[in-house]
Amino acid sequence: MKLIETDVLVIGAGPAGSSAAKHAARGGADVLMIDRKSEIGSPKRCAEGVSKEGLKKLGIEPSPRWIAKELSNVRLVAPDGTDVKLNEETVKLPEAGYILERKVFDKHMAMDAAREGAKIMVKTLAKDLKREDDSLVVTAERMGETFQIKAKIVIGADGPESRIGRFAGLKTAAKPKNMESAAQFEMGGVELEDPNSLEFYFGSVAPGGYAWIFPKGEDIANVGLGVLATETDKSAYQHLMEFVENCPATRNAQAVELNVGGDPVGGMNKKLVTDNLLVVGDAAGHVNPLTGGGINTALEAGLYAGEVAAAAVKEGDFSKKRLEEYQKLCEENIGKSFDKYLKAKEYLLSLSDEELDEVAKAFQNVKLDNINTKELIKLLVKVSPKALVKLGKIF
Ligand SMILES: Cc1cc2nc3c(=O)[nH]c(=O)nc-3n(C[C@H](O)[C@H](O)[C@H](O)COP(=O)(O)OP(=O)(O)OC[C@H]3O[C@@H](n4cnc5c(N)ncnc54)[C@H](O)[C@@H]3O)c2cc1C
Repeated sequence: MKLIETDVLVIGAGPAGSSAAKHAARGGADVLMIDRKSEIGSPKRCAEGVSKEGLKKLGIEPSPRWIAKELSNVRLVAPDGTDVKLNEETVKLPEAGYILERKVFDKHMAMDAAREGAKIMVKTLAKDLKREDDSLVVTAERMGETFQIKAKIVIGADGPESRIGRFAGLKTAAKPKNMESAAQFEMGGVELEDPNSLEFYFGSVAPGGYAWIFPKGEDIANVGLGVLATETDKSAYQHLMEFVENCPATRNAQAVELNVGGDPVGGMNKKLVTDNLLVVGDAAGHVNPLTGGGINTALEAGLYAGEVAAAAVKEGDFSKKRLEEYQKLCEENIGKSFDKYLKAKEYLLSLSDEELDEVAKAFQNVKLDNINTKELIKLLVKVSPKALVKLGKIF
């Protein structure tokens, strides 16, 4: 059987994989990145919202080629239609800033990795992984041909249904209560109240999650929702159909694309490394548990994974102990904030439709630019006393 040898093998060319491949190659490692898709980035499974600050922090220059829309407003909608409007100047909003064209963005990120020297193979599926001496050997298949790839380090960036980490003995499977099922249409003819505003709908419209309308143009938007199977008997698709029929903005709109997928929202995995292997992105639970957003964190964790892998190759030490530097960087820079978001999510999910309506009413006329966090929590506790128990410790 044909054998390819490389320092670092990255499996999965989403944002996490491309970022890891780019930084591992930049650090001097010989890098190969494979993806089972024939077109990187397509089909998308994403509402495409990404924070401006997050990209800036990673030195990714925004390009009109992959930004569909720039948005600075947010509208939060309670079950009875009461809404709270926020904008970027008054509140720091995760996942607000740009709406990407993921099909172009993901390719751009992969090309960036190639520019640093990474090799890429598309339509290449990793089927199996085994340990051999001080390396890992992956069996892969491309266009009917089966071959092997021997790597000193494998980076598992294979998304929410990750198998690569599991092949090496890591627990990467999310429990059902931590895996949101999402369904989304890209729609035309959407009657948007404000084409510059992300919209979030809470309550029984999407049990265990929320529904969203993310504008991509004047009358174009990603319209979707995420639900927890433990909170509803219906599928995400059934909830989406109901939402689209009942929401004034989408009643007359038409879908041109349907995306379904899982979103691991239980926080970062406890173990991200073992000998010769690291996991990154959705495969590592690098998804904000409150928003379900994972692009920024996938890119950031990819940077840490790539840099640590390149350094380990230089030192000739691929042991779990050496790779734990990556685990520590993720815990410090990603995991800690996720713990806060998890608590905020637990609180949000504990509210009934009526309680959500009350909270929205209390905030509807508050000038958020004149209020500090302490006053904000005080107001919240007044209408919703359980906020004190659920959120008290995090602010
Ligand atoms: C409906 C929905 C909406 C979302 N909206 C947002 C949003 O608005 N903003 C946000 O930040 N996040 C959003 N997310 C989450 C976001 O899409 C993910 O967090 C992000 O794509 C994670 O990147 P990744 O590189 O880890 O994984 P992915 O982007 O899933 O990439 C994994 C890659 O691995 C490849 N692969 C898998 N297995 C193999 C294998 N065995 N061999 C070879 N290749 C393999 C896949 O083909 C894929 O290309 C959303 C998710 C869903 C489901």
